Amino acid sequence: MLQQVNGHSSGPDAHGGKALREDLQEFLGQEAPLHLLDDLTKVNPVTLETVLRCLQARYMADTFYTNAGCTLVALNPFKPVPQLYSPDLMKEYHAAPQPQKLKPHIFTVGEQTYRNVKSLIQPVNQSIVVSGESGAGKTWTSRCLMKFYAVVAASPTSWESHKIAERIEQRILNSNPVMEAFGNACTLRNNNSSRFGKFIQLQMNRAHQMTGAAVQTYLLEKTRVACQASNERNFHIFYQICKGASADERLRWHLPEGAAFSWLPNPERTLEEDCFEVTREAMLHLGIGTLTQNNIFKVLAGLLHLGNVRFADCEDEAQPCQLMDDAKGSVRTSASLLWLPEDPLLETLRIRTIRAGRQQQVFRKPCSLAECDTRRDCLAKLIYARLFDWLVSVINSSIYAAPDSWTTFIGLLDVYGFESFPDNSLEQLCINYANEKLQQHFVAHYLRAQQEEYALEGLEWSFVNYQDNQTCLDLIEGTPISICSLLNEECRLNRPSSAAQLQTRIESALAGSPCLGHNKLSREPSFIVVHYAGPVRYHTAGLVEKNKDPVPPELTRLLQQSEDPLLKVLFPTDPEEKSQEEPSGKSRTPVLTVVSRFKASLEQLLQVLHSTTPHYIRCIKPNSKGQAQTFLREEVLSQLEACGLVETIHISAAGFPIRVSHRNFVERYALLRRLRPPTAPGPQSPPLNEGRSEWSPQAAEAALQPLLQDILRTLPALPGAAATS
Ligand code: ATP
Ligand code: MG
Repeated sequence: MLQQVNGHSSGPDAHGGKALREDLQEFLGQEAPLHLLDDLTKVNPVTLETVLRCLQARYMADTFYTNAGCTLVALNPFKPVPQLYSPDLMKEYHAAPQPQKLKPHIFTVGEQTYRNVKSLIQPVNQSIVVSGESGAGKTWTSRCLMKFYAVVAASPTSWESHKIAERIEQRILNSNPVMEAFGNACTLRNNNSSRFGKFIQLQMNRAHQMTGAAVQTYLLEKTRVACQASNERNFHIFYQICKGASADERLRWHLPEGAAFSWLPNPERTLEEDCFEVTREAMLHLGIGTLTQNNIFKVLAGLLHLGNVRFADCEDEAQPCQLMDDAKGSVRTSASLLWLPEDPLLETLRIRTIRAGRQQQVFRKPCSLAECDTRRDCLAKLIYARLFDWLVSVINSSIYAAPDSWTTFIGLLDVYGFESFPDNSLEQLCINYANEKLQQHFVAHYLRAQQEEYALEGLEWSFVNYQDNQTCLDLIEGTPISICSLLNEECRLNRPSSAAQLQTRIESALAGSPCLGHNKLSREPSFIVVHYAGPVRYHTAGLVEKNKDPVPPELTRLLQQSEDPLLKVLFPTDPEEKSQEEPSGKSRTPVLTVVSRFKASLEQLLQVLHSTTPHYIRCIKPNSKGQAQTFLREEVLSQLEACGLVETIHISAAGFPIRVSHRNFVERYALLRRLRPPTAPGPQSPPLNEGRSEWSPQAAEAALQPLLQDILRTLPALPGAAATS
């Protein structure tokens, strides 16, 4: 049963003078100043323009969080606001009887989720989906929430258990600088852009203390190791090592002051270099000792030298490409740092071995210049990706709680936002696919569920049109034919096809989809997907190859020869590992493609999310220059449109803020039946109770109090309520 309550007439008692003031303002036709509107459902009328005006007014008044019904909108301040994240404020939200009456904040969401997992009646796992475009503040928000839980879910009981709790919380927090050093980079959009997706489960025991955590990562952008867009940089860790290593380490890792590395563009920008010590310290906390750390940094230095290996084109196809003169030292240094034999390294980079025929005879074929470069890059990507996965597994083993030591969890999802560049490829397709899935989860969980429930209850309700993105998802991942299935088919058949052929295949097989477009003006072969956040053009060149993500088996075999202790762990020689090698010959069946693996991990994630009560935080970037006090309406507008915020507000504003099951309602308010005035029974009303209580306005009001309190607790705080509550 749903109780309809008008959000604007919550009664004078609850908010005292404030409610009265609001009523008066309404009566006099004056509206509350926009920057005081804590909830976008209260702007009138709800349009993109009014929502934008409200957010702008609040931003300029240094108010960065605003409720939008079930969603919290977070504007990036682009300046330090320490008082907004102080432990004292965390405690204030934690101690508040009704945190939702305080000013909107990520701590409200944090506290709400914490109370939900603490519920004695029915604790439910919680998740917070933090979304937004690159630079909007997702990682910042997730980090602040982790700190919030570290404060409120710490163990206060005994010294002993406090020590343990402190250690585990500290470890969990320490996972951030490590993962950011290895997985974040400076891009055109964000100086600290996460180049991987992350879902962290914060695990709580029966006493609601954080006992551990588990991290799952998605799709690290490993190509960045060997290829950076102009004005972008490699992963932070490389710069940290180069700037932060001691004189002795420089000597050991062959990193003389001022050395130039082609995989280390824009080294002059001083962004994260001072963080080397922070990274090392955090690694220590996570149980990664100095010896292992030095091993990791030595291998990374080896990769930097590998990036300086250059080949020259060879006229004679039967001969392998020659090394450029200045690259000979780089091969030697790289080989020594990676503890690989130098000649086999050079041979593997320049010569392909093919097994063919019944006897599986081995043929050796010199690679073209482009192939040599690809193999060199592939080697670096292979090492870096395995190193990253290994680090994540070490972090997990350091912070994971034993299965019997936790009962509930709060999940934090920080994934890359929707991307649309002039040149989009498989990486953007996967990222935007993930965003489509998350949007669908939001739509399914909130918008659709709410509307369907009203219909089921037979409530009068004018349906709000929302954008259902199922059609787009069918185009990307549907069966039997979709973009994913076509890409996988190309990999399976392993046939040579041009970018133009792939475009034609996609267009003809999926012509019926309203979400597939083609930009006739584009000279390069491409197709357009009309995403919920806008159309994106994907170039078909290189798409199939990227989906195969082939690793020549010679490369893996070479790395298995390494004497380096870390590489031995990353590339063990057991037969199972061998069977996972990518095929190079036409005859073998390809192993899982990139999109299939991504799809599987996404489905797993969605399953976890579905099993939780979700909460949503939409991060918005007020401008793309990273400037404080600058609100660029056009830029914000496109983000509001992209996340369908106005639709969400419409539904929340028109919806019913309280949902009480019929059984609970009857149990709680059955006593009201006894208090009805004796003159008022309806024709179908059951007989009144035996008159144990006499009806009077006072008695009725007293009995109504719990209902009123419920209503007031559920209603969002009125403008300015936080100041006095
Ligand atoms: P990406 O998708 O590229 O990883 P993101 O959404 O994770 O981007 P963040 O790295 O969290 O973006 O934020 C970008 C930058 O904005 C931060 O490095 C920080 O400088 C600033 N920032 C974000 N949120 C806040 C905040 N609440 N207070 C102060 N500065 C912030
Ligand atoms: Mg981020």
